[in-house]
Parts: sequence; C-alpha cells; structure tokens
Amino acid sequence: MRFLEDAHFEGKRVLVRVDFNVPLNAQFEITDDTRLAATLPTLRYILAQGGALVLMSHFGRPKNREAKYSLVHVRAYLEKALARQVLFAPDCIGQEAERLSQNLKSGEVLLLENVRYYTEETQNDPAFAQALARHGEIYVNDAFGAAHRAHASTTGVAKYFTEKICGKVMQAEIENANKVLEKAERPFTAIMGGAKISDKILIIEKLLPKIDHLIIGGGMAYTFFKAKGWEIGKSLLEADKVEVAAELLKKAQEMGVTIHLPQDSVVAEAFSNESPYQQLPSDALPADKMGLDIGSAAQADFAKLIHNSKTLLWNGPMGVFEMPNFAKGTAAIAKSVVEATQKGAFSLIGGGDSAAAIKQMGAAQSVSYVSTGGGALLEYMEGKILPGVAALMD
Ligand code: AMP
Repeated sequence: MRFLEDAHFEGKRVLVRVDFNVPLNAQFEITDDTRLAATLPTLRYILAQGGALVLMSHFGRPKNREAKYSLVHVRAYLEKALARQVLFAPDCIGQEAERLSQNLKSGEVLLLENVRYYTEETQNDPAFAQALARHGEIYVNDAFGAAHRAHASTTGVAKYFTEKICGKVMQAEIENANKVLEKAERPFTAIMGGAKISDKILIIEKLLPKIDHLIIGGGMAYTFFKAKGWEIGKSLLEADKVEVAAELLKKAQEMGVTIHLPQDSVVAEAFSNESPYQQLPSDALPADKMGLDIGSAAQADFAKLIHNSKTLLWNGPMGVFEMPNFAKGTAAIAKSVVEATQKGAFSLIGGGDSAAAIKQMGAAQSVSYVSTGGGALLEYMEGKILPGVAALMD
C-alpha cells in the first residue's frame, strides 16, 4: 500500500474520498466536527505539496436530493480550516463539475456534492465510478469510516487510477487496530457494551485468543445473564442469542479469558430518564424492572481491572448513556480508561457511542486513539478485508 509520503502531488489534481458525514442541527450547523477535523492533516499535506484537491464524500442517506444532505453545509467549515476559498460543484459528476475540477490550479480546492444523491454510488456502478475518476490524476482514500462498503467512491473509482494512495486517517486507523490485534502488551482487556450482542459476536470470537479479560456491559450483558440462568426482568434480551452467549462463556473459560459481567445494575420500571431507579444485584432482577446501567460495585470492579491492564479496547456504552440517570457507568469506564492511559496503557476507543462518551467528558485527547469508524473498525478487527482498503492495494 502507498501512503501520502510516497506520492508527488505537485501540479496534480487529487481526488480525495473523505468522510464528511457529520451530524447537523436544525439550522444545518455542524454539531460534531470529529470526522472533518480528522482528515484535515491529509488535506493540508496535499495542498502543501502543491496539489489541487477535489473532495468527495457521502452525507447521510438521501432518498431524493434533500437539501439537508447537501455537502454545501460543510463548505464554510472547510474554508476556515484550510484558510482558502473552497469551490462547490452542485453535482458530483457531469459537465459543470468536470469544468470546475479541470480548471483547478495548485493549492485550490473543489468540494463535490454528495455522491449518495446518485443510487449508482451504493450500487458501485462502473460508469458512475468512471465519471468520478475524471476529476483527478491521483486518488486518495481517507474515508476509513466508509471503507467497509464497496461503493463507487470507495472502491469502484480506484481501478481508474494508477496512483492510489492511503490517506493519514486510513493509515492511522489501520495501524492502531493492528497494534491492538498483533502487538498488544498484556494484560489486554476488551470492554464491550451497547445494545446488541449479535453485532459483537464475531469480534468477541476473534479477540478471545488475544485477550486476558473481557468486560461485558450495556444491554448485551443481560443476554449473558440469561445464559447463566439468572432472572433479568424486563431487561434487553436477544432470546435467539442466549445459546451463543452460553457458548462464548464456555469458549472463554477454555481459552483462559476471564469474562466480567456487572455484578450490580441500575434498574428502572420504564425505559425513561424520568422513571425512578435503584441499584440491585444483577443476579435476581424483579420481573417488573429493567437494567439500564451498570451499578457502582461493577464500576469499582471494572476500574480495578482497567487500571491493571496494559492494552484496552473499548466498544459500546455500559448503559443507556443518552439518559443522564443511566450514563454514570459509561462515564466511569471512560474515566478509568483515561487513568489507565495516563499510567502507560495503550487505549483504543472503537468509534460510535464510546467515542461520543469520551468526547462528552472532554477526554478524547487523553486516550491513545479514538477511531472515527465504528462499523469499519469492527469489521477490520473481525478479520474481514475492507473493500475500500483492498481497492488501494490492487
Ligand atoms: P450498539 O449500537 O449496539 O453499540 O448500542 C448502543 C446503544 O445501546 C445505545 O443507544 C444505548 O442506549 C444502548 N444501551 C446500552 N445499555 C443498554 C441497556 N442496558 N438497555 C437498553 N439499551 C442499552
């Protein structure tokens, strides 16, 4: 694979696949600029080397060219961050867009409209990919968060270039994931949470031979409790995964991995921040209660484990962290991970909700690496070949 330092950008038009899929509020203002900010080093590097930038990205899931999914909403941010004018092509392919990209000079920037305004993007349509490819002489992919999708702008487009380059975000994501998968210092503790165990089964299986401890929190913990024959009341249950959970518990034991489930839970009668709540031991939850967060004894248990670990991988919240009354467990884990990092552990935060929790605490700089790609990171760690990565190697 070739990286930015291996290419000569001087005088070239560089088509960069970025991930500008950022959240907006009702006024179309960016509410979290993480993905935009992450790719700025790649963009600045190419500009400093004398390249011209043609930027393409997906944005949301438009059905009908809805205005809220226009990439024009990120233009002002980019102009400020790159300290220059950013031209905008109201369509990502076609005559007007091509005229704009062909006239670009060294140091200039063109932002293309949302590639997902075309269904051909997700269909990886060859003619569409070829039309996109006309915008540049070098292709750079820096959209790790979209690398698990074989779409035209992430995959199909690459075959029209001899120069295919891995951007800095993509490079950092792969290097950090590999560090955890291949060179982890022990003890290695994985922390898994979130709603569904079905999304995490493959990664847990992949991690078992590499880790010493597995902490399981969040809604998925209750399917494991069920597998142990405990009463879980109205807690989240994936009934068809109880057997899988039992198998994972058995497999972990055979492989010498200790699985840690929350010994106590914060429970409520309803899935609501207004519902009165209390802490109870997790092994006998009343029929009318649901577990919505890990309790304080579990937080203390997990903190001890995390503090004693040298490698940490965290994916998924410990509770319904969107509701303040059930966010304390997730915040406590975030705090422990930060403290362990300060003591020298390597900590990788696997995107999505755990990244949001770390950011909420203002601690994104206090962990080793926060991934920008939730789904893509999980698939990479499961051992899958990501189409967007493979396309750079062909
Ligand atoms: P996932 O997408 O599988 O990582 O799940 C993230 C979601 O899990 C978040 O929206 C949380 O609110 C939710 N979640 C975490 N813990 C629980 C729980 N105990 N019960 C229900 N939902 C939960």
